[in-house]
Amino acid sequence: MRVGIGYDLHRLEAGRPLILGGVEIPFDKGLAGHSDGDALAHAITDALLGAAALGNIGQHFPDTDPAYKNADSMALLSKASDLVRERGYTIGNLDANIIAQQPKLNPHLDAMRARLCEVLGIDIGRISVKAKTNELVGPEGRGEAMSTQAVVLLESGGLPTA
Ligand code: MG
Repeated sequence: MRVGIGYDLHRLEAGRPLILGGVEIPFDKGLAGHSDGDALAHAITDALLGAAALGNIGQHFPDTDPAYKNADSMALLSKASDLVRERGYTIGNLDANIIAQQPKLNPHLDAMRARLCEVLGIDIGRISVKAKTNELVGPEGRGEAMSTQAVVLLESGGLPTA
């Protein structure tokens, strides 16, 4: 078994769609970024890559590459999950946090889990996404940014792992 950790933070910007875990959430601001800004997908991607010691999201999908402009981050997550599978791993479970003062994310968490379930090809019971505010302090609490954290457990399926 191997564990990986991921973290991300994106600034909030007016006039962009807010996308988290592949789900568009009604709000007057969205996450800035070269891609679609999906900070949840990014943290999970980094956790997956980290667990398999395959580097990080920026190495695989550089934000200087025009191919990834406005990229669907769930497609990048799907590619990262393929890389990990090619090394003989399956995902045991994943747990993630979204730190955001607004909007209320709880009503959208199950939709995010369902999207992650489709993209990662694992049972929804292995996927947890939680939301919390930052008690009105710090960049998340002031509504300047959202941050995300993820941990992923990989299990070796018995294929080569090197
Ligand atoms: Mg990011």
